[in-house]
Amino acid sequence: MLGRRELMRLSGLMGLGLFSMNVSSAALAATRAKPERFRPVIVLDPGHGGIDPGCIGRSGTYEKHIAFSIAYQVAGLLEASGRYRPVLTRSRDVFVPLPQRVSRARSAQGDLFLSIHADSIPNPSLRGASVFTLSEKASDRLSAEIAARENDADLIAGFNYQTQSPEVSDILLDLTRRQTANLSIGLARELVTHLSGMVQMLPHSHRSAGFAVLKAPDIPSALVETGCMSNRDEERMLRNASYRKTVATGIVRSIDSYFRDVARA
Ligand SMILES: [Zn+2]
Repeated sequence: MLGRRELMRLSGLMGLGLFSMNVSSAALAATRAKPERFRPVIVLDPGHGGIDPGCIGRSGTYEKHIAFSIAYQVAGLLEASGRYRPVLTRSRDVFVPLPQRVSRARSAQGDLFLSIHADSIPNPSLRGASVFTLSEKASDRLSAEIAARENDADLIAGFNYQTQSPEVSDILLDLTRRQTANLSIGLARELVTHLSGMVQMLPHSHRSAGFAVLKAPDIPSALVETGCMSNRDEERMLRNASYRKTVATGIVRSIDSYFRDVARA
């Protein structure tokens, strides 16, 4: 019987690249005790940063700090679990244009993209978290307003994202985008389910609109508005470290469920 080295030499001589790969992977599998476990790359995108504070709460809290704190905690919990490889689109208080956040996610080969925000809405008595996915047409007027405000982030720094190609118009035509869109909806449902049990949610807590930061064609993506800073009580809660940890824990549970139930289906 030929040994592995002889088989590889023979297959190489015969120009059988594929055969060579099969032999070597079979041989490696036999000698390797345990294959390395798949650890999905989770891209966490803390909204705003640097000269863009995001929305400013009624007591003066900056959205960018709340978003970073929660995203950073999610990254820490994911890392500690040993099951994921978290990547942050910004690791400090700097401005990152929206398309660059998407391209960072793609170059990190992200398996999931989560943008973290805290919103301000016109009605100060309304409060609660909500989850957004990408759609060409906003699900309602409030969602359209929220997306327009989030997309304006780049204008603050003089960067016009609208000069980028309008990728969203291809969604219904492209199979990858369609599959990504379905997975994104599955992710959003997990987020709503898990966050609902832990924090107050806005009515119609899963909405959709044309968010520039959710446009990676091949990475399931969602945007979490972790609360309304336009509501005094919720702003106070978002300033509270243990409340932010609760939100972060809810997000991590959603990611766990997503990989257990949605991504495998
Ligand atoms: Zn925001």
